[in-house]
Amino acid sequence: MKKNLKTLTSIVLSALLLASCSKSADAPVAPEKKDNADKVLTYIQSLGFSQNNIVDNGDAYIVDEDIRFPKDMEVPVGKPTAEQRWTGSKLTAANALNIRIKVDPSMTSMMPEINSAINQWNTIGGAIALHITIVTGTSYDILIKDTNLGAGICGQGTFPSGGKAGNLIQINKSYIAGNSFAQRQRTITHEIGHNISIMHTNQTGGLLIMGTPPSDPLSIMNAGQCGSGATVLSNFDKVAAQWLY
Ligand SMILES: [Zn+2]
Repeated sequence: MKKNLKTLTSIVLSALLLASCSKSADAPVAPEKKDNADKVLTYIQSLGFSQNNIVDNGDAYIVDEDIRFPKDMEVPVGKPTAEQRWTGSKLTAANALNIRIKVDPSMTSMMPEINSAINQWNTIGGAIALHITIVTGTSYDILIKDTNLGAGICGQGTFPSGGKAGNLIQINKSYIAGNSFAQRQRTITHEIGHNISIMHTNQTGGLLIMGTPPSDPLSIMNAGQCGSGATVLSNFDKVAAQWLY
């Protein structure tokens, strides 16, 4: 995503340069950005989400309250073959094996919860090629940081784009502070699930993953269960991850 941003930045820069060279002062950048935002919106709608569940939040669309689709994301081409739920946009095999999470200083007080969440995804077992590590340098795939998301929302994940994990996880730290350790790490495990393309098990949008049932009360990817939901990946959550990666 950093690379994408870089590419985007250079595109924007070249567009600006072109703009300053041409005599027309019409802003050439805005329409292109809007085009992509429109594509992202169409893509979200094609996943079966109703307009009521899609909120325009400036630089991203928020779906089901806690899933960010950045407006500059790369929209997957074509309808993926599909049958827990995903988005048709996932990490490349190489990226899935090397997901680097950077912990913002605002979240270091929840390192044990973050480590527990990462451990859940790293110990699924079976035929899966998925591995998450914590990094401290400037190069990373996902930044996890504290954000005031208002009452009722524990955290927010970001969907993958261009074969890379979603680049941001926001945790409503003060809001979940009163939850048990197990529930705090559940929130982080759940949001990581979104960043690697898994949708909400208990909602209708998205594409059903082969080998998983239409509902799974034990799924950590059920929505609307902040402070009360499953705290470990269910068997079908694991099947979903194994199917994807
Ligand atoms: Zn969620």
